[in-house]
Amino acid sequence: PDFSPERDELLDKDKKYLWHSMAPCNAAIPPMVVTAGAGSWITDIDGNRYLDAMSGLWCVNAGYGRKELAEAAYEQLLALPYYPLSQSHVPGIQLAEKLSEWLEDDYVIFFSNSGSEANEAAFKIARQYHQQNGDPGRHKIISRYRAYHGGSTGALAATGQAQRKFKYESLGGGFLHVRPPDSYRRPDGMTEEQFNLLCAQEIEETIVWEAAESIAAVIMEPVITGGGMLVPQQCYVDRVQEICKRHGVLLIVDEVICGFGRSGRKFGHHNFGLKPDIVTMAKGLTSGYLPLSATAVRRTIYERFASDGEYGHFRHVNTFGGNPAACALALKNLEILEQEGLVDRARELGARLESEMRGLRAHPLVGDIRSFGFLLGIELVADKATKQPASAETVKGIIGQCKSRGLIIGRNGDTVAGYNNVLTFCPPLSSTDEDMNFLCATFTDVMNNQLKGTPVA
Ligand code: PMP
Repeated sequence: PDFSPERDELLDKDKKYLWHSMAPCNAAIPPMVVTAGAGSWITDIDGNRYLDAMSGLWCVNAGYGRKELAEAAYEQLLALPYYPLSQSHVPGIQLAEKLSEWLEDDYVIFFSNSGSEANEAAFKIARQYHQQNGDPGRHKIISRYRAYHGGSTGALAATGQAQRKFKYESLGGGFLHVRPPDSYRRPDGMTEEQFNLLCAQEIEETIVWEAAESIAAVIMEPVITGGGMLVPQQCYVDRVQEICKRHGVLLIVDEVICGFGRSGRKFGHHNFGLKPDIVTMAKGLTSGYLPLSATAVRRTIYERFASDGEYGHFRHVNTFGGNPAACALALKNLEILEQEGLVDRARELGARLESEMRGLRAHPLVGDIRSFGFLLGIELVADKATKQPASAETVKGIIGQCKSRGLIIGRNGDTVAGYNNVLTFCPPLSSTDEDMNFLCATFTDVMNNQLKGTPVA
């Protein structure tokens, strides 16, 4: 549709009525009003086209403009638009089975609407599980600094980014944080492996010092994504799993970003051979087309909730969780990912992206390049020797130049610590070779132009 006649009026109304996430009130620069999407490309209200190398907010795995997804939701809306999952409906049953198949293990599925809610449900299930098990003191959850797990009270308490939470003192209690495996910034003289094992060891020390009888779970993403693409070594993941097992602590894996092919495997934890007790997922489950999330719980844990007594089962209700249209759409989305081989394609595209970006390693601003499947982060520094983060102006300048050339990339990290200096790439898994040519050529050119006269930091 052509919105040009109403463009200015819409922008005025945007400024007047719409409260944007993560932006100052009445920000000077108007937001990009996006009107359409097709494949990896979006169009704004002025008709400009951009390659969306962030898939919206790490969501649109199958790409924009998929008619089959819209039709799957449409047909389900006509047949049955809504019914709560205190009873049941067919797309809910089918999707739960399909997710268990994708997880390649024996899980039972609880549906919600967002990643935050999926994590909230996971925390409640973990805590209640220990109570049902005769271990009622186990309530604390260990997370990592820099991790993001959502915006609602518990999920934000689990988040390890101070800038998002320090103004909300009433956050739920019982959340502890340990050092993330940020190998690039490890202490001098330590190997990557030693540092990864030290970070895992901090989890064990926290469990021991807090008393294992008080710890319910550890939550982690396979790699910390929004906190700046921190990719752990295999030894870290193995050690964390072993520590959790030994201390009777449940392991919750947050697959909100890494799931559904993004990592080059069906789920991020498959890359590490991890066997989580609980897996949470959202975003890519519907490729962002409708809100839907899920908390997958290992059957042995689920079976602890069999009692029908006053406190025996899980008294958690989510009105819209597992909406039939969203479930029908998610089923179609998974079918597309399977039929088009997009999980394998993600691995292939990720390898290409990484190898092209490696060409920028010698660039004075590029401190580190980290990738996981079809996710990539480039950490920008002002000084390679001291690793001082590049200034916000430099990072924003590069993102702005990419945008003016038709390429949307992300910026992640941690503002409080001054490390919001990681450029992030998360394009649709359906990206074509031409999309990749454009992305790599545009970004490389923008970076090389930084060297020609413009101040770099
Ligand atoms: N976990 C992770 C890893 C996320 O990246 C996000 C959202 N960016 C969430 C949880 C929360 O998801 P939502 O915004 O859907 O509540």
